[in-house]
Amino acid sequence: DAPLMEARDLVQTYQVRQGFLRRAELHAVRGVSFTLHGGETLAVVGESGCGKSTLARMLTLVEPPSSGTLSVGGHDAANPDRQTMAALRRDVQMVFQNPYGSLNPRKRIGTILEEPLVINTSTPADERRRMAQDMLARVGLRPEHYDRYPHMFSGGQRQRIAVARALMLRPRVLVLDEPVSALDVSVQAQVLNLLNDLQEEFGLAYLFISHDLSVVRHVADNVMVMYLGRPVEVGSREALFETPRHPYTQALLSATPSVNPDEQRHRIALSGELPSPLSPPSGCAFHRRCPHARPECADRRPELREVGGAQVACHFAEELMVARESGAA
Ligand code: SF4
Ligand code: MG
Repeated sequence: DAPLMEARDLVQTYQVRQGFLRRAELHAVRGVSFTLHGGETLAVVGESGCGKSTLARMLTLVEPPSSGTLSVGGHDAANPDRQTMAALRRDVQMVFQNPYGSLNPRKRIGTILEEPLVINTSTPADERRRMAQDMLARVGLRPEHYDRYPHMFSGGQRQRIAVARALMLRPRVLVLDEPVSALDVSVQAQVLNLLNDLQEEFGLAYLFISHDLSVVRHVADNVMVMYLGRPVEVGSREALFETPRHPYTQALLSATPSVNPDEQRHRIALSGELPSPLSPPSGCAFHRRCPHARPECADRRPELREVGGAQVACHFAEELMVARESGAA
């Protein structure tokens, strides 16, 4: 079946001021490609500053990419005409991290849910009300919650409301930006299960942005690991969690609590701070922090390439995989 969203070589570059007169280019995202089908979840993983938020703004059509192509449901979403833009903005909706800040405290839940319909459609009031109450039930809330205010709900309930609002226009793609990070661990699983049920019910495609690999392990079909604006490893959930190929992925994973208590995981400490995206290191941008770096890593930038069924950007991925399997790394 046809993909709901397809990105090829997405790039976002900003002009920024450095000091009084100097201008510099900030390469926030470089060379992101993926294909996303209905019912599928692609997780985008990385530290803050890796380009996740910039990517989210491009995918939700808030900012056009500097270059590259983006299509939604087969339509050009990188340079759409005004009419297509309006339709595409309905197809792609976003859920934010903070369920406290994203709901207007002065508005009733019903008003919040109906707002997208008021702005984008000419649905009559009684029909809007019926749709909002129906959506409340689908996210595990009750029709009488329609008249209440956000402060009367817990964090998990508010995130259910934010998801309900995102679904009011019947989008096909949801961009979920750290959707459970602000919630108690006990509540996270409930919201993740709800998202999974809604995905099946509506055939939604999810782009799931998260720094938390223990969450990603539960939701992702495919994972893209980003470092300083570039994807460094892309593959299926199994490939990434069972055989991480890139030293950065290995380090991120080593810092995640294991689901298997028998598994001995030794934590890989990364040296140094995340460099500024304004002056990324030469060659492999990870070389100053990489425990396996060699002199040539500072000279040549590794391209993303296929290594044993996943995509990885490391000159020595094959060697490191073999060493890891034999317990030497
Ligand atoms: Fe490490 Fe070199 Fe691979 Fe970069 S190319 S991840 S520095 S080994
Ligand atoms: Mg799923």
